[in-house]
Amino acid sequence: MKTAFYPGSFDPATNGHMDILGRALALADKVIVAIGINPAKKGLFTFGERKAVLVNAANSAFGDKANAMSVIAFEGLVVDAAKLHGATILIRGLRDATDFDYEMQMAGMNGVMAPNIQTVFLPASPPTRPITATLVRQIASMGGDISAFVPEAAAQALKAHFKS
Ligand code: ADP
Repeated sequence: MKTAFYPGSFDPATNGHMDILGRALALADKVIVAIGINPAKKGLFTFGERKAVLVNAANSAFGDKANAMSVIAFEGLVVDAAKLHGATILIRGLRDATDFDYEMQMAGMNGVMAPNIQTVFLPASPPTRPITATLVRQIASMGGDISAFVPEAAAQALKAHFKS
């Protein structure tokens, strides 16, 4: 039973996150999507809202396969949270050289702190490679159409958020 841990902010989940998640579900028996909560950094959506978007989007995109996914919140070190949940694979998506440099440093240091957890890099698929949640939030806040970049559940949540 291989458990993968996929950490991030998912604020909200984008098509890039869903692409990586789908491929992680093909690699592992169980995938834990772990939403990092930083008390000093207030996100756009609450943990509950981010989780609802992820679950809804995964059910639409992956059907029964989505049953192998769970969504949790964590604070502190990714490797500690991964260990706590019995994960041996740490999933990270790579978009570009900036991601690569940073992710290589993190993978190296995480590997020293937790030698039993293997980081697995998945390259972003070409259509989703330019997508970042930060830009999605900015475009949505200015009334732009983000439907090409996020799952339907995220588009609806963004619309509702910026309408109010
Ligand atoms: P963002 O950087 O968009 O705010 P997160 O911090 O939630 O996203 O990132 C969580 C993980 O998802 C990271 O490994 C990140 O590289 C990956 N990721 C985010 N967007 C994409 C994308 N468009 N394609 C592939 N991986 C992505």
